[in-house]
Amino acid sequence: MRDENCIFCKIANGEIPSSTVYEDEEFRAILDLGPASKGHTLILPKEHFRDLTELPEDWCGKALFLAGRIGSAMKKELGAAGFNVVQNNGTEAGQTVFHFHVHVIPRYENGPKIAAWEPGTTVPEEQAEIAEKLKNALS
Ligand code: AMP
Ligand code: ZN
Repeated sequence: MRDENCIFCKIANGEIPSSTVYEDEEFRAILDLGPASKGHTLILPKEHFRDLTELPEDWCGKALFLAGRIGSAMKKELGAAGFNVVQNNGTEAGQTVFHFHVHVIPRYENGPKIAAWEPGTTVPEEQAEIAEKLKNALS
């Protein structure tokens, strides 16, 4: 299903032009207009899913596989030394466009700094409590 009010639905389905680097029946991958580094790419499904929690399993597999292919192309053709695969879910997590997308961000030697988290601290009791809650939810 598409959402008439969603800009990424329009881009993914070719109604709004984009710098497309890959397209098949289910996905379009485009260059990000506000790139974190040269070649920053977004993978967009052609159907509307708000975020990862709505994306069906087979689409998940294809999206991640495609991210790997795009990352390989970045290393081969753009001289990237590595790449990050980033996927934001929810406003607090940095999501600004509520149509599922995967960022593939090439990283270069001496390239732009991209913020990463500062490692925090924990204690075994806290880890055990958290692990128990998630294990229960996932079983
Ligand atoms: P997120 O913050 O994870 O929701 O990512 C949204 C991304 O979409 C940002 O990196 C934006 O720069 C990018 N973006 C927004 N509008 C467009 C557009 N029309 N074409 C290409 N990239 C876009
Ligand atoms: Zn959409």
